[in-house]
Amino acid sequence: MAPESPPTAVRDNDLVSRIAYRNRYFDNPEEFFDRILAKTVVPYQVEVQPGRLRGRALCWMECPYCYGGSSENTGERLTPERYVDVLRQTAAGPHGGVHKIIFAGYATDPLNYEHIDDLVATSLAGNQIVGFHTKLLRVSDRFISLLASPTVPESSYVTVSVDAGSAESYNKVHNIDSTKDIYSRILENLRRLAASRRASNARFDVTANYLVTRVNATPQLVEKAIRDITDAGAQVVRFSFPQLPRGMDAEGDSIIPTRAEVQQYYATLKPVIDAHQGGSTKVMILDVEGDLHIEERRTLPCFARYLYPTIAYDGFLSNCSQSAAPHFRGMALGNLATRDFWDAFYDYDTAHFGAFLERQHAKMNASDCRCDRKEHTVNLQLRDAAKRRFAI
Ligand code: SF4
Repeated sequence: MAPESPPTAVRDNDLVSRIAYRNRYFDNPEEFFDRILAKTVVPYQVEVQPGRLRGRALCWMECPYCYGGSSENTGERLTPERYVDVLRQTAAGPHGGVHKIIFAGYATDPLNYEHIDDLVATSLAGNQIVGFHTKLLRVSDRFISLLASPTVPESSYVTVSVDAGSAESYNKVHNIDSTKDIYSRILENLRRLAASRRASNARFDVTANYLVTRVNATPQLVEKAIRDITDAGAQVVRFSFPQLPRGMDAEGDSIIPTRAEVQQYYATLKPVIDAHQGGSTKVMILDVEGDLHIEERRTLPCFARYLYPTIAYDGFLSNCSQSAAPHFRGMALGNLATRDFWDAFYDYDTAHFGAFLERQHAKMNASDCRCDRKEHTVNLQLRDAAKRRFAI
């Protein structure tokens, strides 16, 4: 049986809205707070960041803009069997199941995990929407055929980080000291996915992201990327700018552009990107920080854990996708190796909720967590109502 949608959630059928951070996660803040206090709130989605079992490295690459670049690999993991068990738990909670599972990474890539296909099969068997954020360096035939199944729920998607328009720029952006043509390999995998989507009339979407940095911001590279990604069959290409990851204190120290550079790149690239409107692939460029006037590293109060908690590579249920690593252990919801999902999820103090929030915020400030855009957006939407309701 399909898990019930959280009653306050609005289904995100619109691909472009999803990609442009225009999703609505709740209808009414007060009703959302009531559900938190009654412990009947159900997460809008759960993110899974599975940690590779073999080797010391967490990821395929060491990208200079990686959110999780400062993460430590303690070697703690859930077993493959426990992952399956926990995912099954998410699909059927005491107040409804989680409707959507996102497979992504903080210092990791979900497709770099040895048993990813088993996790995907488990979520699909629970009728959950599945989403992937990946570099798509490797993709198995089983993964492609799982997604091409006619029973895959609508709004499922694969988003591929391409971030380049040539083999050389790909290696530069990803800090790869080699002349290997990894760019063509990514495009080929993208092509395989998109072709399988078309051939099977499957319901998952294939989109691509391009983070504009100091080494890939020329109109020529951007033009070429749009042509290559369109040719590979992606439905949307989103250009945006990297955020400053934890562990880095100033933009401009690496390939991450400063605020002034972002404005300059945006002005140069917008007309190039706009010239591609109206084709089979939708193309957009976003400057979310500029549009929403985001200057802080985190937006508090933080409600991420009630909307999109994350299973970190070390097996802990974490507050959000950006605090899913051992150095945020003090604010984790629980260790899923030993606790069940809903037990950890509903473990918070409702009798003194304002004080509970403030204790959590002190930990967030101390651990220097940094919101991604969906987290800034949703915390901003709730901020004024939460301050009034909880007197914080
Ligand atoms: S990064 Fe943002 S969403 Fe995550 S815990 Fe910190 S304040 Fe909350």
